[in-house]
Amino acid sequence: MPPVNVKRPRLAPRSPSRAGSRSGAQAAASKPVVSDAPRVGFVSLGCPKALVDSERIVTQLRAEGYAVSSTYQDSDLVIVNTCGFIDEAVQESLDAIGEALTENGKVIVTGCLGAKAGESGGSLVGQAHPSVLAITGPHALEEVMGHVHTHLPRPHDPFSDLVPEAGIKLTPRHYAYLKISEGCNHRCSFCIIPAMRGDLVSRPIGEVVREARALFKSGVRELLVISQDTSAYGVDLKYRTDFVDGRPVRTRMTELCRELGLLAREYDAWIRLHYVYPYPHVDEVLPLMAEGLILPYLDVPFQHSHPDVLKRMKRPASGERNIERIQGWRKWVPELTVRSTFIAGFPGETEEHFEHLLDFLKEAQLNRVGCFAYSPVEGASANELDGALPDEVREDRRKRFMAVQQRISRRLLKQRVGNVVRVLVDSVGPQGALARTASDAPQIDGVVQVASHRSLKPGEFSSVLITGSDAHDLMGEVQG
Ligand code: SF4
Repeated sequence: MPPVNVKRPRLAPRSPSRAGSRSGAQAAASKPVVSDAPRVGFVSLGCPKALVDSERIVTQLRAEGYAVSSTYQDSDLVIVNTCGFIDEAVQESLDAIGEALTENGKVIVTGCLGAKAGESGGSLVGQAHPSVLAITGPHALEEVMGHVHTHLPRPHDPFSDLVPEAGIKLTPRHYAYLKISEGCNHRCSFCIIPAMRGDLVSRPIGEVVREARALFKSGVRELLVISQDTSAYGVDLKYRTDFVDGRPVRTRMTELCRELGLLAREYDAWIRLHYVYPYPHVDEVLPLMAEGLILPYLDVPFQHSHPDVLKRMKRPASGERNIERIQGWRKWVPELTVRSTFIAGFPGETEEHFEHLLDFLKEAQLNRVGCFAYSPVEGASANELDGALPDEVREDRRKRFMAVQQRISRRLLKQRVGNVVRVLVDSVGPQGALARTASDAPQIDGVVQVASHRSLKPGEFSSVLITGSDAHDLMGEVQG
């Protein structure tokens, strides 16, 4: 039995003339309503592609234990899958939404009309029917289900719910990685990620924000935004407009940071950005840091400083004037932490190139830095480059690089002694707690070793007076 009854409209009362026009309106009613399951009514308009979308949504509803109802009165919520192809279809869809609002009141709109802008920009559906709960475009199963979960939560069933709402996480409960895209449009010569994972594919912003909300609801206090190239988020979608809580929002880095930041403020949580390439539009997120919406932290993988080496690496944004950029960012947000990674001993790197890198490091005064001795990766085009350096030279340069950075890091951390900082506690033991400041991403940066204090709990924020430092970490005592 198909999950959607395509033969005739089942949601009553629809006008026979309207329901019978064009492809017709159909409602799903594949099984009798189960008394205690949440009930969803479904009106499906439009072409076969829209119908397939409807089938997928209804299948998912049933798989999750929702009942599909055959009348407005019997439904806890109604989904209207719309068509926006021609004027007549637009009007039919708008009328169907109006009818569902009148007869039921709780309506989620999906489909082609959901993606259509009104005359003054914004959503056409939102303008015609401001009381709809949520609006998505077509092919938006996950988004629609997200809205259903928000407005008609399914009661937890311990016998069938093996997976928590936020999914299964391998990180501690209080922080999580939020992947915003997959793949990469660049072709760095030392990297085989594009060959393995393909070109950039961004997740629509509505989907990403919904996952973030679910993670915050499940107790996450820090979200680490990851991708291969966070600055390129949405390029593949041409920054397409999607919907966040029914509001049209472009799938783009700045907009994403703002939405995540607002959500983080609601849940008293942190947003940290990783893998940010220094394109000009990155400047747009600095005001969000100044506002306190996202952490003043940028993980920018520079990899090298010398233009010749960057060219051989085929690095994105290699033409940027990075020292000026960093200085500009710090003027905006003085407390900004810049983390980066570098490669020492890349094929063809001369001593002069390497000295250029050390000078860059001294001038940039980066807060957190990792450095790898170049190591060939099977399948990478850098393997074909001439000028490969002996292992000892690569390792020697890595050590020299890290010795310079250690001095910088020691000096920068020492400046923090005497300050009271907000920390997120990672773990608590008999000797004290390990926590992190806004400057420290888990696993890759330093920690604050907090002297034993009974009040600290993992996953909670605390105020700590910094009492000591070394080249990597801080030491502190709980305040108050
Ligand atoms: S190293 Fe270059 S090619 Fe590889 S994922 Fe990063 S930006 Fe893309």
